[in-house]
Parts: sequence; C-alpha cells; structure tokens
Amino acid sequence: MTTLNENRPPPYQTINLSNFRTLPQLQALTEEQKFEIEVVGNVLPFKTNNYVVEQLIDWEKVPGDPGFVLNFPQRGMLRPEHFQEMAEVIRKQAGREVLKNVANGIRWQLNPHPAGQKELNVPLFNEHQLEGVQHKYQQTVLFFPSQGQTCHAYCTFCFRWPQFVGLKELKFASREIELLVDYIRDHPMISDVLFTGGDPLIMKAERLAHYVDALLDANLENLSRIRLGTKALAYWPYRFINDPDTDDLLRLFERIRRAGKHLAIMAHFNHWQELGTPAAREAIRRLRDAGAEVRTQSPLLRHINDDAQIWSRMWRTQVTLGMIPYYMFVVRDTGAQHYFGVPLVQAHDIFRQAYQQLSGLGRTVRGPSLSANPGKVEILGTTVIDNRKVLMLRMLQGRNPDWVLKPFFAKYSETATWLDELEPAFGDRFFYEDELDAMYEKQLSPNTGDPFHEFESEHSGLVPLGHLGHQ
Ligand SMILES: *Cc1c(COP(=O)(O)O)cnc(C)c1O
Ligand code: SF4
Repeated sequence: MTTLNENRPPPYQTINLSNFRTLPQLQALTEEQKFEIEVVGNVLPFKTNNYVVEQLIDWEKVPGDPGFVLNFPQRGMLRPEHFQEMAEVIRKQAGREVLKNVANGIRWQLNPHPAGQKELNVPLFNEHQLEGVQHKYQQTVLFFPSQGQTCHAYCTFCFRWPQFVGLKELKFASREIELLVDYIRDHPMISDVLFTGGDPLIMKAERLAHYVDALLDANLENLSRIRLGTKALAYWPYRFINDPDTDDLLRLFERIRRAGKHLAIMAHFNHWQELGTPAAREAIRRLRDAGAEVRTQSPLLRHINDDAQIWSRMWRTQVTLGMIPYYMFVVRDTGAQHYFGVPLVQAHDIFRQAYQQLSGLGRTVRGPSLSANPGKVEILGTTVIDNRKVLMLRMLQGRNPDWVLKPFFAKYSETATWLDELEPAFGDRFFYEDELDAMYEKQLSPNTGDPFHEFESEHSGLVPLGHLGHQ
C-alpha cells in the first residue's frame, strides 16, 4: 500500500526559459540543443515542472523520449525560416521588445485560431457576447474560467498555445458564471458543462468551487453532467493526493455527486509512460473513489505516439486502471502541426491496429477524430467505389446535429493531414458546405445572434438526453 498521502507533496517547481539551463538533467544536452530550446521557446509556449522532469522523462532516451518531445520545444516545430529569424535576434541579443515583435510576427503566421472558434462558437446572449464560453454542439457548453487558463506544464503541440503566449485578442476567459447559469437555463438542450482552459484544475479548489457551486445552487434541471477537462493526472497527480487543498477538491467532487450530477474527468494522456508512476496510480484511485468517471483522450502525434503499440498499451492500461478510453484526435491545423501531424490514412491505420488489440472494454474509444469547423469528423477508413479509392468519413458531432453519422466520401489522399486538404469524391462540395457557408454569412451580419436558437427550433423533435457523460 502506498503511503503517498501521508507524505508531503514535493513542492511544485516551474521549469521554463528562465531556468531550464540549470537542470542537472539538461547537462547531457549540447549547447546547440539548448539554444534550439531557447529559440523555439521564445515563439511557442514552454513550461514544465519537476514531476515531469524527474518522473516522466526517461533522460537516457533524450532527445527521442516522448515525454521530452512533449514538453521541451523542438527545433522542427518552427519552419526553418522562422527558426532562423528568431535565432538571429537572440544571437544579436536584441532587446525584449524586438524579441517580442519578431515572436508575434511568427505567431500570427501559425493559424492561431483554427476551426472558427472565435467567429462561430462564442454565443451572443441577451446582447452580451459570452466571452469565456463556447457553444458549438447542442448538448455541451464549454466554459473557460479565467483563472484556469494555464496548465501544470505545456504540451508542445497544444492548439491552445495562443492563450499561453499572451496574444491578447486570442484569449478565451470568463468571470461571468452568472451569465453562464442564465444561458444554460435558457437552453434546455444543454445537459453538459465542460470546464476547460488551459487546465481548470490549476485553480485552487476554492475558485473552482465558486463556479461549480453556482451551477449546483442554481438547480438547473437540464444540467446533468459536469465535465472537467484536465491533464493534471499526467502532469501533476499530487493535485488529487496531497496538494494543500486536495481535501477541498475531493469534497467538491462529492457535492457534485450528491447533487445527482455526473462528474466526468476528461483526462488527457498522450503515452503510457504517463500512467506508470505511483503518484498517477494513486491519483486515479482517489478520483474513482470520489465517484468520478475518468474518460481519456489524446491526439495522435508524430515524434510522440505515432505507433499502434503505444496506443494499444496505453488504452489497455487505462482500462485496467478503471478509466474509459474516449477519443483519439487528429492534431489541429495550428502552431506546429507540420511537425506533429500524421496523414489521415496513416492515423486510421494506427487506430485500427491498436483497436484490434483491445477487448470490448477498450472499444469505447472513437477516432481518429478531427475537431474541424463543421464538427468532429471521424475517419472510417479507405474503400473502393467504382474502381476509385476513396476515404470514408462521418461526423461524431456536428454544428448542425442533423449532419451527425451521415457517411460522406473524399478522394483518397496519402498526404492530407486535415479536412481542408481533402476533396469530395463525388460532386463539388461536401454535403454540409453550403449550409456551413450560410451559417457564417448569418453570423457575420449584425443582430442575428445565437445560431443555436435556430437549431433548437428547427430540431425541436430532439429532447435533452437523460444521463450520459471532453476535450
Ligand atoms: C469536443 C467538443 C465538445 C464535446 O464533445 P463530446 O463529443 O460531447 O465529448 C464540445 N464542444 C466543442 C467545441 C468540442 O470541440
Ligand atoms: S494540458 Fe491541454 S491545454 Fe494544457 S498545454 Fe496540454 S493540451 Fe494544451
């Protein structure tokens, strides 16, 4: 039996550009490798911590170790011309302002806001733009509490990277829980609130409780599930074991359960390495004891987990530890996608090979799924129709719910890594494209407001689901 809970937690230490060179583990790297970290880390976010460095990264295997690639900036993450540009200003020891301007110039070229998040997903409600809220799929509203916009460590591939480098216009954040409560009450189709960020579990329990209790106290009948999207199990499992406010956190979870709501932890794991430490295992056990159901998800990432054996071992271990594999994502078209991206056909092969090695208990997982503009698009595989090789696709979630699970076909491509690189196999357009364009036109003209009101009346045959269970 572990006695972790009686121990004091190791104090959390941030490792970033200002102090990474002092790590004893880093002494094995050459000066050039350290310089590369510095160059890339000046453009894309870089932060890790002592747990990751001491327990997750296998330093014997650096620079190829997946945990290292996951947290330490890699040269290939910047295009060569961007790398050179940044390297030059650092070598010249240009001032902070110059560095920042060059960094921002590069950042704007990295598609900082993919999938129409800002244009289409931020609802208008009673004349207010609900900053800090995204509502794209009927049942689930995303909430970005303003104090949860950071993480215990940053994933090098993260599509939320603009939030961490302070590109102001690009942030989502919210203090407006009251508006959210009203919004949920006004939208009976909403059954799930998904707290996301950053990582909402970076917040003190008291802060998180402020939000969650407001939702519970409002007695919203339609709200059945509270979901917390987090990487804390992988990056700082002590959050659930012996942080100073862990007991308060677990008591909050208990209140959610007593209120009759389902508590879903949408846990982010990229590799089985993250599941092996005593602290991770103890944290999972405690969450399960607190009545939380833990579902797991991860993108498929070149240089980190682009191998079916990694996935099957990860999913099998998760099931054994009592978690539910949920989504395999395709890495989004932003930031360093050119470095982490895997062609869609290869993604499907990896998914299929890994899935074949699972018992039914692990086959809850779905994917590979692209969180794209029209919806979550699942790749079903390759087939031949009329002597032509085509890709089969369907949506698992749709901006219009009626699009969900309608099969559609794209021309076969060995290289496409995102939906916009695919062409329809039949006809000029994918079936949803005209309607999607129309949504954009409406949203962009003034006073047309919330696209969901329209869906709810058009699809009034749909009723909120009973009980069921993030990214
Ligand atoms: C993935 C996602 C959700 C949650 O979808 P589920 O399939 O219910 O897990 C909600 N909103 C947005 C914008 C998403 O991308
Ligand atoms: S934990 Fe999630 S939000 Fe935070 S850096 Fe990683 S992927 Fe991004």
